[in-house]
Amino acid sequence: MTDNLIRGFEEFKNHYYGEDNSLMPKLVDEGQDPKYFIISCIDSRSNPGTIFSTKPGVFFAHKAMGAIVRPYKQGTALSAALKFAIDYNNVKTIVILGHTQCGAVKALCDGLQDEEIQSFIEFAQKALAKAKTYSDNEQDMLEHTEKEVVLQSAENLKTYPSVKNALDKGEVVIKPWLFDMAAGDLLEYDEEKQKFFVISD
Ligand SMILES: [Zn+2]
Repeated sequence: MTDNLIRGFEEFKNHYYGEDNSLMPKLVDEGQDPKYFIISCIDSRSNPGTIFSTKPGVFFAHKAMGAIVRPYKQGTALSAALKFAIDYNNVKTIVILGHTQCGAVKALCDGLQDEEIQSFIEFAQKALAKAKTYSDNEQDMLEHTEKEVVLQSAENLKTYPSVKNALDKGEVVIKPWLFDMAAGDLLEYDEEKQKFFVISD
């Protein structure tokens, strides 16, 4: 059942441990120096390593349903990871990567009755409330919510002491991004124009 994963690993090994490309042994010897911290959804179609075609060593990864960032709380997986990445590994760019057709956003909009899931996605309630002020058409509201969740997560990220401290010193930037899966586009939020714009070709 896991044959495809094992074949994939062998392909990876041939690629990065081969004579022509010994990137992995180099990263093991010299250590990693990732430039980005990417917060993405658990969705199997929006995996940053795949969609950004990155080699090993490029970014730290954190995954959560809907790429939702809850407000700061000490001792969470994300707060420790951000501290490690920013204070000990000099990460300068944090990407929040939302995506369209997101199951978590749909669950939020539909009010899915599942305590386990609800107790996490409720951190994005404010985003849903804001999206509702734009439209009451179901599809429009869903699309607005996808964007508002990314923005809400970006706001919540600023409550993490490691992020706040680095932001105050101008040492880190937060990039609110949205992967439009249907169109195959990458969008970024423009703070000035208060809109998401396509940044990929
Ligand atoms: Zn998702």
